[in-house]
Amino acid sequence: MSTNQSAHDTTNPALRTWVPGANDNTLFPIQSLPYCVFLDLEDEYPSLGVRIGDSIVNLNMLHEANVLGDADHHDHDVCDAFEMPMLNGLLGLPAAKRRELRGQIQQFLLEGPPGGQSQRRLREKCLTAIDETQLLIPMLVPNYTDFYASIHHATNVGSMFRPDNPLLPNYKHVPIGYHGRASSIVPSGTPIKRPKGQQSPPDNDPSQGPSFGPCKMLDYELELGAVIGDVNELGEPVAIANARERIAGLCIVNDWSARDMQKWEYQPLGPFLAKNFATSISPYIVPLEALEPFRCALDPRPAGDPRPLPYLFSEDDQRGGGFDIQLEVLLRTKQMADQNLPAQRISLGNFKHMYWTFAQLIAHHTSNGCNLLPGDLLASGTISGPDKSSRGCLLELTWDGNDASTGKPKPRIPLTLPTGEQRTFLQAGDEVTMRGLCERPGARTISLGEVVGTIED
Ligand code: CA
Repeated sequence: MSTNQSAHDTTNPALRTWVPGANDNTLFPIQSLPYCVFLDLEDEYPSLGVRIGDSIVNLNMLHEANVLGDADHHDHDVCDAFEMPMLNGLLGLPAAKRRELRGQIQQFLLEGPPGGQSQRRLREKCLTAIDETQLLIPMLVPNYTDFYASIHHATNVGSMFRPDNPLLPNYKHVPIGYHGRASSIVPSGTPIKRPKGQQSPPDNDPSQGPSFGPCKMLDYELELGAVIGDVNELGEPVAIANARERIAGLCIVNDWSARDMQKWEYQPLGPFLAKNFATSISPYIVPLEALEPFRCALDPRPAGDPRPLPYLFSEDDQRGGGFDIQLEVLLRTKQMADQNLPAQRISLGNFKHMYWTFAQLIAHHTSNGCNLLPGDLLASGTISGPDKSSRGCLLELTWDGNDASTGKPKPRIPLTLPTGEQRTFLQAGDEVTMRGLCERPGARTISLGEVVGTIED
């Protein structure tokens, strides 16, 4: 939980800003300040920014005006960070310097009279209304790793294939993951083209053999991504005690999945073309410091579960390695949009129900000496909770359990939408939106923003 409420606590709910309209009724208060990369519609070159209220603050302008970094621009790491049209340099600063920078940004935005005429001009100049900006991909992702850290997701999916033995024996000992594809990570709003691929022979007539064609079981996966800050050198594992500090911030991830292709290809080496055709990420990287009030313990492990091996265990991580973040998925078909119907919420869950923490994922990923780079994306895996309403993908949401006599999944039950349309998997024109929200008494409520994608055939 929150460590202190001192004057230097950037999440102190009493803090207020001079930015118009950004103190009340906003999910982007001065306590949050998520990073982004944006194009001012009048500008051709991207700038680094933070969101506050309904505005984006241009950080490049603050840096040029000596508000950020040291006054003489002798801090080359900080100068280099603002030379890039991406957040990698800024996110990759050592954690202490990253925090210092966040403090300087917040200091500039705090309520109070401007220091003088130049300060007044800077205040006017550095803000752009969110409606007049285009948000770009926040960082170049050098490497993308996808985990499987929700035991509810792993149990549900495992039950479809192995009803008697849903969880493989390694699950509670080793965080399961695979190396994903960074080149197809796209910003929110990018249309998602239905992939083609090889699919398994029909269950009722295997002699037909496999086929190749458009995916018929296109799905989303609700995930959170930890964006890595500063590096660890090749050959140097990150100890669990230091692992959380390696996270610069979190974003929302939609790991689009082709289930029919996945089913046929995943054994024995794991997912391949069913997963690498597109992964969407939200435009904001919410700094870990802003999420401090929302840290929590994960759900207690059931009695009898093994204690993690020492390299995956720390008391501090057990107490507060999870995050209390509400996550929802909304669906809007083309017909719903044409009829001006709002998107329908199809699931609502919380990140605190995971089995493994991000610190455990980082400690495990680097335990063999693998080096992580600034901007690397470590995704949690599909986030499903204990209830059916909190399942994080259609594969689980439309699953109706297994038939007792055959042990195989029963026919799927499609979702019914306000237009009367039904969905078992995604169709052309379907728009999927994922949102994250943090709220608890005594803290300012903050949004993680959203990630949106629409299916194109
Ligand atoms: Ca995934």
